[in-house]
Amino acid sequence: MKPIETVDKCTTCSTCVAYCPVTKATRAFKGPKLTGPSSERFRLFDETGGGEISEIEALDYCSNCKNCDIACPSGVKISTLNMLARADYCRRHKPPLRDWVLGHGHALGKLARKFPGWLVGMASTNPLTRLVLDAFGVDRRAPMPVFVPQSFTEWLAAHNAALSPAERAKLTKKAVFFPGCYVNDYDPETGKDLVFLLEKTGYEVVTPEFQCCGLPMVANGFFDDAKAAASKNVDSLTGLVASGDVPVLTVCPSCQLMLKQEYAEYFPELDGHAALVPHVQDACEFVAGLLESGELDIDVREDAAKLVYHAPCHLRAQGIGKPGLDLLRMASANVEDARSGCCGISGSYGFKKEKYDVAASVGADLFKAVKDSGAEYCVTECGTCRLQISHHTGVPSMHPLSWLRKLVK
Ligand code: SF4
Ligand code: SF4
Repeated sequence: MKPIETVDKCTTCSTCVAYCPVTKATRAFKGPKLTGPSSERFRLFDETGGGEISEIEALDYCSNCKNCDIACPSGVKISTLNMLARADYCRRHKPPLRDWVLGHGHALGKLARKFPGWLVGMASTNPLTRLVLDAFGVDRRAPMPVFVPQSFTEWLAAHNAALSPAERAKLTKKAVFFPGCYVNDYDPETGKDLVFLLEKTGYEVVTPEFQCCGLPMVANGFFDDAKAAASKNVDSLTGLVASGDVPVLTVCPSCQLMLKQEYAEYFPELDGHAALVPHVQDACEFVAGLLESGELDIDVREDAAKLVYHAPCHLRAQGIGKPGLDLLRMASANVEDARSGCCGISGSYGFKKEKYDVAASVGADLFKAVKDSGAEYCVTECGTCRLQISHHTGVPSMHPLSWLRKLVK
């Protein structure tokens, strides 16, 4: 069913309002019922697309966290309606340059790698740079990630080229890994940990010629750029899986949500997407399956370190449970589920000057739960959740696969 067709399923029960973390945090946001289905009825009959009627300033506070969609008992696609309305508005009213930059991190990563790593690192963390960025609309308190000098895809190409004939002969199966911008440009270690585990099971790991999944572009109002990126991703991924039963794995819940579900909602005209969907899988879910079936045979050492797990909103929106938590429990990790909702960052939302305090307020319950747990590490699948949680709690964080990799003897 098209998102627009779900509007009339709204029974105005207000469940979404009760579950929207931004509604609780700020009066600047009018809430999912009003900005979603209620405003959509005006938008449907307004020649301007209803952008003005829906008051873009209020709509702009939707972080696209999807907690409203998870809670709605009628299946109304509230967050998608909000994003489509924002896209329509942003076609008529150009978003600020700051939003273009935050929505196109992948392009900036490519540019950053043309400069020496030390220079990029220094420029990213320098207080003067942060002041300049603050004036540009990126809050100077926000936990910005730093571009790495060698991207994950560059590392993987060198790694695969260096495999000896004997090592290569052991890799009899193929897995496609969609690293997404976060792993590729800021956090290649998580990708390397997945490669380590998959190679132990006999998988050769390949990455597609990939673009950003498009979610940061959608969230920042650059819908047509997101569509172009989605089209290229679908083309390159369908080419790689055409040979048969090849999994397409992601470690980022937001990339996964786009590839599995949101491309169809935002860009129903994309050719080939439906055939790709059955291949896309959460990497933790895949590795847990390998452990369960005995295909992945690893000895893990006991580690008494206490962990606290956070389930990212975009993982919960997929209805696949918490495979990262299951995986850690299979490895006998000492892990507690934080069960405390959204961290507030929502990709680049919490970096914005006017949203930093809202994002901090949204995540307050989670930060308290992480601190109260007394855990040494927080584990969660989403890279920007990790940034936000560590920033507000001082507790270091990592991907569940990285913790599993650490436990392998
Ligand atoms: S996506 Fe999140 S912020 Fe936006 S309306 Fe839904 S619950 Fe609220
Ligand atoms: S939860 Fe669903 S049905 Fe209830 S008000 Fe929100 S959109 Fe309407």
